[in-house]
Amino acid sequence: MPSDTISVAANLAIVEDEIARACRDAGRDRAGVTLIAVSKTFDAAAIRPVIAAGQRVFGENRVQEAKAKWPELKEAAPGIELHLIGPLQSNKTKEAVALFDAIHSVDRPSLCEALAREFSRTARRPRLFVQLNTGEEPQKAGVIPGEADAFLAACRETYGLEISGLMCIPPVEDAPAPHFALTAKIAARNGLSELSMGMSADFAEAIAFGATHVRVGSAIFGHRGPLAR
Ligand SMILES: *Cc1c(COP(=O)(O)O)cnc(C)c1O
Repeated sequence: MPSDTISVAANLAIVEDEIARACRDAGRDRAGVTLIAVSKTFDAAAIRPVIAAGQRVFGENRVQEAKAKWPELKEAAPGIELHLIGPLQSNKTKEAVALFDAIHSVDRPSLCEALAREFSRTARRPRLFVQLNTGEEPQKAGVIPGEADAFLAACRETYGLEISGLMCIPPVEDAPAPHFALTAKIAARNGLSELSMGMSADFAEAIAFGATHVRVGSAIFGHRGPLAR
């Protein structure tokens, strides 16, 4: 085996161990947490060893990049599930619905409208998460906490969209725990069972706060380099 194959498989095993431990510590069932391996910026050659190690759920943050890499990778391995974790422009909705099994970045009425329109044309129904901007950062996507309940009601009532859960990306400079707690609280009062939260640095903590989907990139694939998002 080439050395990079050994190292990503080892990284994946370490992440798996940490998820199992976090679940035990929280008294949770391991089956209640989905590991999304975030492969953004990595090419097919880097992704193949992770698929070979048994990982089937992957995350990408750009529609075009995913479209370039994944159709071929999907064909080579059965059971791949793809999650869009980055912002979605309304004019890419059709492509996103065709390619992704889940979209974590529902955050505005115009996107809800585009999704509803696309759902009227196709049988595909990616699972939808509403993204929260818990830090209320002006440059970041997501619904601010004070508007979350009304936005979730509009998703259901105005656009007929079934929302599965909430996603958050805490501000880098903050301790993540209060952001995870707030996201869990808003999900609970809206009857949502899924929580997409936790990245390489904090997925164990996110699991303690109820994460059902952790999005882990660099802990599996290594560093993305200075130009990567
Ligand atoms: C890149 C990215 C991740 C993964 O980040 P790591 O710190 O590399 O684990 C998770 N979520 C989102 C939304 C991302 O864009």
